[in-house]
Amino acid sequence: MLSKREWFFQEHTSSNLLCCPYCHGGLVRHEDTLICTNRHVINVNRKGFVNFLSRPVQSEYDHALFESRRHILDSGIYAEVIRRILTICEQENGTVVDCGCGEGWWLSQFLSERPKWSGVGIDISRPAIEQATDYRSHAVFAVADLRRIPVADHATDVVLNILSPASYEEFHRILKPQGKLIKVYPGEHYLQEIRIQRGIPLYNEGDVYTYLNSHMHIQNIDHITTTYPIRHEDWCALIRMTPLNQNLSDEEQSLLSNENPGKITIDLYVASCTADI
Ligand SMILES: [Zn+2]
Repeated sequence: MLSKREWFFQEHTSSNLLCCPYCHGGLVRHEDTLICTNRHVINVNRKGFVNFLSRPVQSEYDHALFESRRHILDSGIYAEVIRRILTICEQENGTVVDCGCGEGWWLSQFLSERPKWSGVGIDISRPAIEQATDYRSHAVFAVADLRRIPVADHATDVVLNILSPASYEEFHRILKPQGKLIKVYPGEHYLQEIRIQRGIPLYNEGDVYTYLNSHMHIQNIDHITTTYPIRHEDWCALIRMTPLNQNLSDEEQSLLSNENPGKITIDLYVASCTADI
């Protein structure tokens, strides 16, 4: 089996989507690094990804959070959302950049159903990207800032932006003229059972739609809202994975874990947008 680093080079060579974060030039392999025509050198680490941040970012998201998140993603409660995304991207070939890819589940699901596509996943969290390379999908992964996406101008057919902050200026820059942004964002009742148990207000949808509408041409928005039964182990994983609970002590988290309401609500919008506003 290829090492993770060799896997990275294989996928980079076939997709050629990743570019130099400094000059946006193309990157070719030189030993265990990537190098652009302006001689910027980027190390590819043995875990099979590149890190474009000049210094580490402090994040409250750790390995345990992303492991819990993977457990929940695999439980099937997001199956309808990924199905809608795939429906928007029906063509046989294409390129996709997942901006804020987390631990890589969405991109990996996408590419397993669209095996002739290739992708790039970027996230600012190093622990997330370390887990993303486990999937061995047709993608390369990079730790990078969404405000400096390491993809060339007008190079991608699709940008995914799922439950993550956006960077619309960069999305415009990297999308092909007919390319699409698919943005998934929460509705008011998203994971409401956790908020109810904790006695905190429901999710405030706020200005996401208004902000999106002022930056992109929205073609369609699907509203997916379903309640799923939830097993004890999945409820415990949910408690651990949401940033909502990061301020709780271990004891408080464990108390909350014993209060499984038996169901969980998925309430998400899937917006399909083009750049031509
Ligand atoms: Zn360069």
